[in-house]
Amino acid sequence: MVGAGLSGLVAATNLHGHDVTVFEKSRGPGGRLSTRYADPYRFDHGAQFFTARSPAFQRFVASLIGAGVVAGWSPLLADIDGDGITMSDPWSGNPHFVAVPGMNCLGQYLAANLNLMRQAEVKAIHRDRAKWNLKLADGTSAGPFDWVIAATPPAQADGLIGHYFERTTLVKCQMQACFALMIGLDEQPRLPWQAARVHNSPIAWICQNNSKPGRAKVPAVVVHADNDWSDRHVDDDQAEVRYVLLEEASRLIGVDVSRARHVALHRWRYAKARIGSNIGFLLNQKNKLAACGDWCMDGRIEGAFNSGLQLAQSISPASSD
Ligand SMILES: Cc1cc2nc3c(=O)[nH]c(=O)nc-3n(C[C@H](O)[C@H](O)[C@H](O)COP(=O)(O)OP(=O)(O)OC[C@H]3O[C@@H](n4cnc5c(N)ncnc54)[C@H](O)[C@@H]3O)c2cc1C
Repeated sequence: MVGAGLSGLVAATNLHGHDVTVFEKSRGPGGRLSTRYADPYRFDHGAQFFTARSPAFQRFVASLIGAGVVAGWSPLLADIDGDGITMSDPWSGNPHFVAVPGMNCLGQYLAANLNLMRQAEVKAIHRDRAKWNLKLADGTSAGPFDWVIAATPPAQADGLIGHYFERTTLVKCQMQACFALMIGLDEQPRLPWQAARVHNSPIAWICQNNSKPGRAKVPAVVVHADNDWSDRHVDDDQAEVRYVLLEEASRLIGVDVSRARHVALHRWRYAKARIGSNIGFLLNQKNKLAACGDWCMDGRIEGAFNSGLQLAQSISPASSD
């Protein structure tokens, strides 16, 4: 398995009867379900929350709530457009969930019983006597394996296994970027909202991260830039991006956050699928190659889960959810 994001972890967990090794290029599991530590602050700088609509994901979320890894989150939510602020309650009746005490805890929980190779970036794969061998970024090799599954965004999957699939499927699934600004304050800003969807601005989302359950009560704000805006500025000088987002965040929060105790910018080059593909997963049974991920579904956490689960069930039909 290449990639320890949610789709890869779920697929690995459900590949019953297979001896699975997960290769992850980062230091920890979780992928875009991530939390940045900058003491005393904690920022969920990737995925913010999730809903559960499909029965399989609802059962999964219920089990995670039982294990204390997931909890409901109902922030005071605003829509901001220009100077207008409208409080809204669109989330009632449709529970929203977060991992606790940080979004990264979900990946850590799922990876606990898996054979996970950290800081192990897979650079290439090659076939030898009906088995797959992996070439890693540090120059070492791994294998032989029966199957290779790319549980990565499509550009990375394309580089590894694209040769064995109709390339248009992978290339058509375009991902959008997102800049995440993390702001650690000395005092909690006095705002009528804990999370805001922002319209007609370089910023699309602001969240008082410490309003989520299980977080320390230290004022930590996460700002996400608009995806189209991020795409236009993805290769710009990051100091300029940071300046623009800090100015706009200061206006929206009503505090000069450029003077905050902690400020950091993160660029997600592959944040979100522009349009979900709803193909479920990619499978080449003859060559024993496959791909899964949010981009195979609707581009969200629930889609990543369902993609990984459905792929595992089709490789190991005895799998259950
Ligand atoms: C800023 C942001 C906000 C979001 N907000 C939400 C939200 O509020 N709600 C929601 O439902 N979704 C949200 N999402 C989307 C959500 O995070 C994803 O849908 C989901 O986490 C994708 O899981 P995945 O397993 O498909 O991919 P990923 O989480 O991207 O996992 C892929 C993994 O593969 C690893 N990898 C890649 N290439 C290699 C390689 N060559 N070798 C080894 N490892 C490799 C990566 O390091 C990564 O860990 C957000 C995403 C971002 C970035």
